[in-house]
Amino acid sequence: MGGFAYDPFPMSLRIYDTMARALVDFRPKEDGVVRMYNCGPTVYSSPHIGNFRSFLMADLLRRHLEARGYRVHQVMNITDVGHLTEDDIEEGEDKLMAAARKERVDPFEIARRYEQEFFKALDSLHFKKAEEYPRATEHIQEMIEMIQGLLEKGHAYQVGGNVYFDEESFPGFGKLSHKNLDELLEGARVAVNEEKKDPRDFALWKTDDKHLMQWDAPWGRGFPGWHIECSAMSRKYLGDELDIHTGGEDNIFPHHECEIAQSEGFTDKEPFVRHWVHCRHLLVDGKKMSKSLGNFYTIEDLVEEGWTGREIRVALGRVHYRQPLNFTKESLAEARKGLQRIKEARARLLRIVLGIEQGGIEELGPDLERAREDFGKALDEDLNISAAMAVLFDLVSRVNRAKPTQQGAEEALVLFRNFEDWTGMVGDEPKIQSEEGSVVWMAEAEDPKRREVVALAKERTEAKAKKDYQRADEIRDRLTQMGYRLVDTAEGIRIEKV
Ligand SMILES: [Zn+2]
Repeated sequence: MGGFAYDPFPMSLRIYDTMARALVDFRPKEDGVVRMYNCGPTVYSSPHIGNFRSFLMADLLRRHLEARGYRVHQVMNITDVGHLTEDDIEEGEDKLMAAARKERVDPFEIARRYEQEFFKALDSLHFKKAEEYPRATEHIQEMIEMIQGLLEKGHAYQVGGNVYFDEESFPGFGKLSHKNLDELLEGARVAVNEEKKDPRDFALWKTDDKHLMQWDAPWGRGFPGWHIECSAMSRKYLGDELDIHTGGEDNIFPHHECEIAQSEGFTDKEPFVRHWVHCRHLLVDGKKMSKSLGNFYTIEDLVEEGWTGREIRVALGRVHYRQPLNFTKESLAEARKGLQRIKEARARLLRIVLGIEQGGIEELGPDLERAREDFGKALDEDLNISAAMAVLFDLVSRVNRAKPTQQGAEEALVLFRNFEDWTGMVGDEPKIQSEEGSVVWMAEAEDPKRREVVALAKERTEAKAKKDYQRADEIRDRLTQMGYRLVDTAEGIRIEKV
């Protein structure tokens, strides 16, 4: 992570665990390593902001754990079989299939197209890459093996070509959502399905020769249920015990409850997941997002309207994940204003570092140290991003009031970079574009050779002023060797990385 180190802070995170219904100390199975699984997107339509709140929470969690010295193995699945809810299965329709029928194209083609859009949106919102993004359609064999295992252990039963999970066989059902038997029965609200022994039972495999996506299985040609996908893929990439499993609050029941039943039923090991972390869902303009209300924003729409990915990220990420978040255009405008304030403060610091603007005598050290500590503590406490952002803006005010030394300004710049790496909500370091009569740096501000190169460029200017052309040429050659080019302009000398 660049040239800056964080304090290792063992057991530094407290997180709200859905199963414990309390803030708990985060404890991974293995010291220093985090195995994290995130329920990913269903790729049957353009990614919209409603999906991204829980993905962003996972990204922030990843960044924070990395900042605290953990090595994170993150897996996010791509649901390309279709978002098969129980209702969809009952009705024999699947959203990806519906999209394929409507658009009259191959469902795989649709899935790939929307998957590309999803990855593009992740990039534009400055997400860190997960280690794996497994596609459900490429793990049908693993799902079949797990279903087979569940049948053998008596956790599942077959009716014709269909296989159902037998909830009677798993007494722990309901432990995540804290639902009792009556509530579970109520939640099963099914159209009559005579096949099932119990209305709570859910499909693991459906035989259906009309389904556009089908695979061969011992029970007949068909397709897997949605829940089995996450049990099979998380196990393949992360093993029998995950440290963190995330999702939106609407995933708690039935999806995650079913995952637990399948995974623990299959492995006979408990717990399948050490910490369940769920994100509140998002409101748009004060309402639940829906196409009919016209508050259905895709990431692409917002980018086309001129909002940057960073602004969207800040507007989505600025509120604690367990608080309701109302996404509005005003919140985007606010994000823009905040980012601009940070950028201006950093530009001034950069000018001081480059000697373009006069610095002062303040060292800033203790203030920076305190900001760093408070920022980290805020995130340690259940990823309290709003508290961390308040620390960040206090820091902006502090450096704006200060007259720091070049060293102090440099250290403050490092801290901003550090916070950006930690959250992705601070922005890139600005580039100083043009300053009259001075050296203009056009390469990356983070360049470790920046100081040396700027000093050499200034020395060359002085040598030329003294008509010491030999020395001036020497310096130019030296910089060329180092990979920099000096361009004389009316405004001064511009340094470019070649
Ligand atoms: Zn899932």
